Amino acid sequence: SVQHYDVIIIGAGAAGLHCAWQAAAKGLKVMLVDHAKQAGKKILISGGGRCNFTNLYASPENYLSNNPHFCKSALSRYTQWDFIALVEKHGIAYHEKTLGQLFCDDSAKAIVHMLLDECAQYGAKVQLRTDIESVTYEAEQYRVQTSQGSLQAPQLVVACGGLSMPKLGATPLGYQLAEQFGHTILPVRAGLVPFTLHEQQKQAYSELSGLSLDVVATNERASFKEAMLFTHRGLSGPAMLQISSYWQPGETFYVDLLPGRDALTELQRLKQHHPRQSLRTALQQWFPKRFALTFADQQGWPDRNLADCSNALLENVASQLQNWPVKPNGTEGYRTAEVTLGGVDTDQLSSKTMASKLQPGLFFIGEVVDVTGWLGGYNFQWAWASAHACAESLS
Ligand code: FAD
Repeated sequence: SVQHYDVIIIGAGAAGLHCAWQAAAKGLKVMLVDHAKQAGKKILISGGGRCNFTNLYASPENYLSNNPHFCKSALSRYTQWDFIALVEKHGIAYHEKTLGQLFCDDSAKAIVHMLLDECAQYGAKVQLRTDIESVTYEAEQYRVQTSQGSLQAPQLVVACGGLSMPKLGATPLGYQLAEQFGHTILPVRAGLVPFTLHEQQKQAYSELSGLSLDVVATNERASFKEAMLFTHRGLSGPAMLQISSYWQPGETFYVDLLPGRDALTELQRLKQHHPRQSLRTALQQWFPKRFALTFADQQGWPDRNLADCSNALLENVASQLQNWPVKPNGTEGYRTAEVTLGGVDTDQLSSKTMASKLQPGLFFIGEVVDVTGWLGGYNFQWAWASAHACAESLS
């Protein structure tokens, strides 16, 4: 027997849940299916368990896409303030951590409960532990064959997310469905992901594992002033995650380890006033000792007093400190990436409704689409906004 609905949504993550209740609120008969045991798994672990659910400053400039204009319509019609109002309606306490990032005071569970409550209130059905076996389209109906039986509806919303964190249930189903219906998939790669370093550097810097510095990371495409963290495998922390989304294999980016300072002037002044201070000691006015020593060794700087450091040497030191070239070996990949860059080409979607331009009644929302946000609540805001745009246009 086949169960009939107005809309079937595949993927009970951020976008799918938010779309389901809003479609049901319009009076539509909605079925939301997911293979996972739990809804919103990524929400639950996000933001260190507190869910950075939006950003006060979210705007189209915070997103990467082959078409940077695509996200504008949805983001402007469902803003961070709309989602904040929902969070407040549910009495969820939150705070701004830094840079406009809003987190739950207690637990990310509150956000999942909120979305499930809304689904329950409007009668959107949420069916978990359901494997998708096939999707076909015939006589203006989508037939979704699942491990729990057949579903049918004239509208299908694909909200399966990206490839990051396969352990949490990420699969390529969303991309496969898009291809099945003739859509182009722009090349996908891990974003918001830690870097790995080449063997020699990795070994040298792994001693600094756990150490964090405030830096500016820059390449031709972007620049981020945030913390950088040394790890056993390489470099992480917000500054590195952010620049990773703008990085391609083989490229070099630059790190200012002394943002807002003029290292050369300060070193020259020190040389004048404290000529007998060693270069390595001088570096410790700015950095923890273990960083100063390791970094100086890695750069091959001589261990001598400032008086004996030529101007050319000080210039080199200053330039390495303010423009440290980093050429990563690679990234940690989907295993630890927060997002997937690329995905369903926006050229074949309506920016107003998220509807396919190729196939009637088919929609793509959330991370499966080629729209990827910065670190800081922007990815959830895209999930909420694209879900809203879609829900508004469902009939
Ligand atoms: P998802 O939330 O990933 O949901 C996709 C759903 O589809 C899942 O429930 C999955 O089980 C289901 N699915 C997949 N394949 C199948 C299949 N074959 N059959 C059935 N169901 C399937 N963003 C922020 O804005 N703020 C944060 O604090 C933040 N923290 C993060 C922390 C981590 C560790 C990670 C990995 C990501 C974080 N993100 C954060 C990114 C954010 O989680 C995603 O961008 C967002 O969840 C995307 O929403 P979505 O609904 O498109 O996909």
